[in-house]
Amino acid sequence: MEAPGYGVRVPREEAELTRRALIQQKVLSKRLKPRIEGEYVLFPVESPLFGAEEFFFDMIETIPSLPRHDLIGGIAVMAEPDTAGAELLLAQRRSIHTVLFAESEVEGEFRTRRWSLLAGEDTRKTVCMEHGQKFLIDLEKAFFSSRLVTERQRVLQMVENGETVLDMFAGVGPFAIVLAKRAGKVIASELNPSAVTLIEQNIKLNKISNVLPFLADARHLDLILEKGFDRIVMNLPHGATCFLPFAFRLIKSGGTIHWYAVVSKEGMLIPVLEKFPVKKIREHRVRSYAPGRWHVVYDIVVV
Ligand code: SAM
Repeated sequence: MEAPGYGVRVPREEAELTRRALIQQKVLSKRLKPRIEGEYVLFPVESPLFGAEEFFFDMIETIPSLPRHDLIGGIAVMAEPDTAGAELLLAQRRSIHTVLFAESEVEGEFRTRRWSLLAGEDTRKTVCMEHGQKFLIDLEKAFFSSRLVTERQRVLQMVENGETVLDMFAGVGPFAIVLAKRAGKVIASELNPSAVTLIEQNIKLNKISNVLPFLADARHLDLILEKGFDRIVMNLPHGATCFLPFAFRLIKSGGTIHWYAVVSKEGMLIPVLEKFPVKKIREHRVRSYAPGRWHVVYDIVVV
């Protein structure tokens, strides 16, 4: 769209010097675009400077700033229940089909939230892409967080080819499926039947054959599975402490347990590990969880 405005006309060879001078004097227009006219460049200015004339200029398209949100595939999760902001998100981002607001914290054994629809299609299902892999998600039925994408890649870098891995709290399978890129076999164990169905679908979606979905309570895994895992992932940050004995019974000597927790101080949970056969512990901050609290992982190498 065009709009009238004052501008200065300078020969092309003087354009760059003029542009810098106008910026320095804080008079270059932020609303209108400079344009070329034959051998001259027309710079729109904020006020009728000496020598300025009236011209028509193209307007600079301003993109309204978008409200704070997290993206999970085609679902935007907004920090506030702001329906006008939700409509703006839908209009500005073609990849978003649904805008939700979390009515609750992550809750219950299955670690899901209650959602309300702010805009778009009334669904809690979407497909999320992470480093070339796809995850079918249903936020109503099973946990998923796209904030762990970097953490999954960090753990993947630690996996040696052919490892046997156990994901004790697998959700819809993102850790299991990412680690399957290098591992020989991954057991993706989960208590929530809907999540296990999604793991099965995600295995098909990613055309992989080395992930075995397992519907089980992590408390029973040492009765069903043989000891000897190279690596165990324990991503149940608010409750995995009581599952540590089961992980230590299943890990092989020299293997690694990734134990996730929420802490308010570095090293806070290291005393919990004193009664276990630990060779080495490394604490790594995954992300900020809340003011003064961090989602951390203890990478534990077992004796
Ligand atoms: N690892 C997944 C991820 O990163 O998306 C899911 C993590 S989520 C925080 C924890 C998962 O543990 C949930 O899917 C929940 O259903 C599952 N869970 C909770 N208690 C469990 C138990 N006793 N045995 C097995 N899985 C359990």
